[in-house]
Amino acid sequence: MLTHGHEDHIGALPYLLRQTSVPVYGTRLTLAFVADRLREHGLLEQARLTSFKPRDRFEIGPFGIEPIRVTHSIADGIGLAIDTPAGTIVHTGDFRLDPRPIDGETPDYSRFTELGERGVLALCSDSTNVDRPGHTPSESEVGPALAPRFAAAQGRIILATFASHIHRIQQVLDLAARYGRKAALLGMSMMEKNVRIASELGYLRVPEGLLEPLEAVAALPASRQLIVSTGSQGEPNSALALMAVGEHKDVQIERGDVVIISARVIPGHERTVGSVINALFRLGAEVLYEDNAFVHVSGHASQEDLKQMLNLTRPRYFIPVHGEYRHLLGHARLAASVGLPPERVFLVEDGQGVVYVKESEEMLAELKAAVSQALAERDPAQPFDREVVGALVKSAVRRFIQQRFQRKPIVLPIVLEVPGAARG
Ligand SMILES: [Zn+2]
Repeated sequence: MLTHGHEDHIGALPYLLRQTSVPVYGTRLTLAFVADRLREHGLLEQARLTSFKPRDRFEIGPFGIEPIRVTHSIADGIGLAIDTPAGTIVHTGDFRLDPRPIDGETPDYSRFTELGERGVLALCSDSTNVDRPGHTPSESEVGPALAPRFAAAQGRIILATFASHIHRIQQVLDLAARYGRKAALLGMSMMEKNVRIASELGYLRVPEGLLEPLEAVAALPASRQLIVSTGSQGEPNSALALMAVGEHKDVQIERGDVVIISARVIPGHERTVGSVINALFRLGAEVLYEDNAFVHVSGHASQEDLKQMLNLTRPRYFIPVHGEYRHLLGHARLAASVGLPPERVFLVEDGQGVVYVKESEEMLAELKAAVSQALAERDPAQPFDREVVGALVKSAVRRFIQQRFQRKPIVLPIVLEVPGAARG
């Protein structure tokens, strides 16, 4: 079940599908990116790809699956409502709440609200931007912010962004058309490929006659050139990095050129991006990037958006997902600030265990025996006390799990008094 087509969400598929043949579900654009990837690996023929649309509910085994529209830094993203025999799980996928997305596909606030009214057992929500106060600005603010740059630039404009950021690319191509520039796409074939896929499927509208091969664009006066490139993370062999060191075969940076890095720096890439920026400035370019100009908005929800998601879905339990430990913890605290009791929030890191009951009957029987033994050792003279019994169960389960799996579990004992049952 794919929520969107970003690299960190589909990149492992060819390796997974080589080992096991499972059906893959996603929206049209997501699956088009996936299909392209699988074709490269020679796996497309045998792959079982099924596309779905937001609000089209379907069933797989005991689960009811409903994709729900969300907005993100790639088109056609969704979250999921998964009906299970135990209750409904809502997974947001990567998201922001953009009230004015470029394609008009607003997040499905009303569906999240309905699910909240019906009862959500657990919410799993994107934690990436939990440190940012306020709301994440709309994607539709980026184009107008870039327009004066296009209006003022005398030289070439080189804009680096992610090849999958279809709505950013859309706005930039529209600006080029408006300000009389021709555009060339550059970078590891990804940029060209994604633009082709997205425009074939109607997710991107390329203005008539705008795109030209690089050689044709490079032959125009600098003031009529736009180059859309990858390399926003300073990747060593990317077009942008080669331009920065004067080694790109077709593009030599000159005084008056404007380089716009319209992307966030992914943590860990600060130094390489920094050195690319320094080198571009040294060559005489004006460089605009997130720290010195408004050239980018994030694809992830900020604090107020995250609170809104919690308030719409009103889950019984909350599991912060997607982010480093600090983000998950921050998101857990944010949930507490909107009234979720801490014992209903689970901080679970990748690799932490879930026990599949059917396949673990033996282990569960042993666990049961360990708990019974702990309870049997209770002083029979003591009066029955829920808290004492709860604490005994908790420590017995913890001890068992720690010894068996070297993990520290969160144990939530629920002690039920059965009327008329013998005590002790
Ligand atoms: Zn993403």
